[in-house]
Amino acid sequence: MEIAKEVHEGSITTQIVETVLNEANQRKARRVVKVNLTIGSLTFLNPEQVQFWYKILTKETIMEGSILEIEGKDGTVRCPKCEYEGDFKYVDDSIFHAPIPVLQCPQCDGKVEIISGKDCLIRSVKMLL
Ligand SMILES: [Zn+2]
Repeated sequence: MEIAKEVHEGSITTQIVETVLNEANQRKARRVVKVNLTIGSLTFLNPEQVQFWYKILTKETIMEGSILEIEGKDGTVRCPKCEYEGDFKYVDDSIFHAPIPVLQCPQCDGKVEIISGKDCLIRSVKMLL
């Protein structure tokens, strides 16, 4: 069984902060006050961990003290065999103590393809010019 779990909050949050800082610099912003982020369920990012890293990484930048709003988005899969399309099949995992999605078709047990949910998107940034 293939499990798609990764822990990479630190590096993803670094990318997010760098992207926002670049954008803010280009617009010559004085401060960034709020960032809206959408996280696909398949990124397996823990929002609390993202918040934790965000606080550390924005320290002593114009983003320090800004609000990070995180919105989750469900993933979708498709089965090439039986043409199932929809939510993931979840199994209870003893290591992570939570249901985790697997790449298995809920109908025929075939291997499914991921359609969406692997993305992490900065939806909006509020800054003071
Ligand atoms: Zn199937």
